[in-house]
Parts: sequence; structure tokens; C-alpha cells
Amino acid sequence: MIHYRKSILSVAAAAVVAIGGMSLHATEASAQQRDILIGGGSVTGVYYQVALQTCQIMNKHSGGKYNCVGRPALGSVFNINAVNRGLLDFGVAQSDRNWQAANGTADWDGKPVENLRSVFSAHPEAVLLVTRADAGIKSVGDLKGKTVNIGNPGSGQRGNSMDLLPLYGIDPDKDIKAEGLQQGEASRALVDKKIDAFVYTVGMPSAAIEEPANSTEIDILDINSDAIKKFISDKPYYVLAQYPDGIVKGVDAFETYAVKATVVTSADVEDQVVYDFVKTVFENLEELKGTHAAFRILKAEDMLGGLSAPLHPGAIKYYKEKGLM
Ligand code: GLU
Repeated sequence: MIHYRKSILSVAAAAVVAIGGMSLHATEASAQQRDILIGGGSVTGVYYQVALQTCQIMNKHSGGKYNCVGRPALGSVFNINAVNRGLLDFGVAQSDRNWQAANGTADWDGKPVENLRSVFSAHPEAVLLVTRADAGIKSVGDLKGKTVNIGNPGSGQRGNSMDLLPLYGIDPDKDIKAEGLQQGEASRALVDKKIDAFVYTVGMPSAAIEEPANSTEIDILDINSDAIKKFISDKPYYVLAQYPDGIVKGVDAFETYAVKATVVTSADVEDQVVYDFVKTVFENLEELKGTHAAFRILKAEDMLGGLSAPLHPGAIKYYKEKGLM
């Protein structure tokens, strides 16, 4: 990804050369700019929109101080690890992964990510179990013997699949044919009948769900058994969530559990950069809310919730100034 960064810079340099008379000025400006790289998720999800749109706002409102690039990435686990290794400045990650990384459990068993810092939280994300209606799957237990996308390695939903399937008595290694596709491919594979179902933890609405709903008949199953309710009851980063009829085209009301999308960084990222990022996003929140339907419900005071890793000092400085903490 260091390589990726360099290639972005060289593309930028080529563009500067191409615009002739402007080049000297633009080159000088970019020499003083701080590059920021933010990792999202698959292009049809909402994380990519968080990365892309916060970067747009940063580029537009930071007076040329920053060159922010929001890029697609593999999701929560990947983003936390990439932030930790200094390959990304910020990444988007589920609140359950934020907690696990900070506390050294699940993917980080015994190895807490000491440098992980929270910045703010964004939209809620539901754990969705989406099936093609003609696959004959009426409840999670019916997945036995079916081909199910459990999420690509590095995604947040993969961990949710590994938690929830056993709670329904399904062994992901033996009872289903588990696929690890990235979500863009998984949504198409469902329509093309290459898989029967997928698990995706995502904000609503997202193209990853809307597209298959527009191409075939889909169902979204309840994930609300007593075992699930017990599982989430002692975990502050999970809530039960109800969705009404028609929230997705042709889909009946369903109940499942949800997390929040959180933006994380590393303790190694400069306070000024995090401060400027948080300030610019919060001061242009109305603009951000207008960029994607999943962001419409964002409220500044809620955006400090769902964060388990310690807040970055640059974020704390802004929140204190604004009386948000
Ligand atoms: N929750 C997913 C993950 O952690 C990403 C969802 C999205 O891209 O909006 O990988």
C-alpha cells in the first residue's frame, strides 16, 4: 500500500504536468500538503462512502492543507490492522471489531492493538442474512447444505457469521459450503445462483442489497433467537434492531442485531491531523449527511458512542472545545 500511495502521488504529479501553466504553483502547493489515506470497504457498501465523502469534505474545506484519498478496502479487520501498521491514516471498522482489537480478543486474541485510537462513529450497521427467495431458506437453520458467503477474510461480517451460525447449530466448516467472496461479487453471485445466501454487516441503504433486490426476489432472515439475544445481552457494542416491511424492495419486516461503523486511527498519527479531520467533518456534518442516505440520521452527539478504543488526543481536543465531552 506504500506503493499505492506513491502511485497516487505520481498520478497527481502527471496531472499537474498536464495542466501546463498551472504546474509550478500546483507542485508547490502539493509539496506542503499532508496526504491522508482512508480505508473503507467494498465499493457497493457504505464504508467506501464514509472514506470517500469525508475525504471530499476534507479536500474542499481544509484550504489546500490536505490531500485526502478515500479508497475501497477489505473491511473492518483489514482496516484496523492497516491503521496499526501505518499503511492507512484512518480506517472504518465495526464497533464490535473496535472493541475486540482494543481488548485483544477474537482476531486479536491475546494481542490487543495498543496503538488503536477511536475518532468518531458514523451510521449503524445491521447484521444481514440475505437469501434468494427461490433457495427455500426460511430460517437460519435452513442454511444447512447451502452455499453461503460468510464474508471475505478481513471483513467485519466474517466474524459475525462465525458467531451467529454456531448459535443456530450450524458448523460453518461442515454444515454449509462457505464462500469468502468480497461483497461486490457476493451480491452478483446471489443473483446468478452461485450462492444461496450471504451474510453482510452494512448500513442501510446499500447498493450491495438494493442491487440484488432489484434483480431477483430476496429475503432477509430474522436473527433474533433466544441464543442470539443472550449472546448480545452482555456486549455493549450490539443492539437488537427491527426493520419494517419494505425497507428493502419486496422484503418483509425482520429483526436482527446491529453495530455502529466507527472511524479509527493510530496513536502515531499527528494530533493536528486528527484534530483537523474531526473538526472539518463535524463542522460540515450537514454536507456529509446529504451525500448518502445512510448518513441522514447522523447527529454530532451520537458520534462519540460505540467507541471502545481510547479516543485520539486530536479528537479529544475538538470534542472538549465544542463541549461534546
Ligand atoms: N461492515 C463491513 C466490514 O466491516 C463493511 C460494510 C461496508 O462496507 O459498508 O467489513
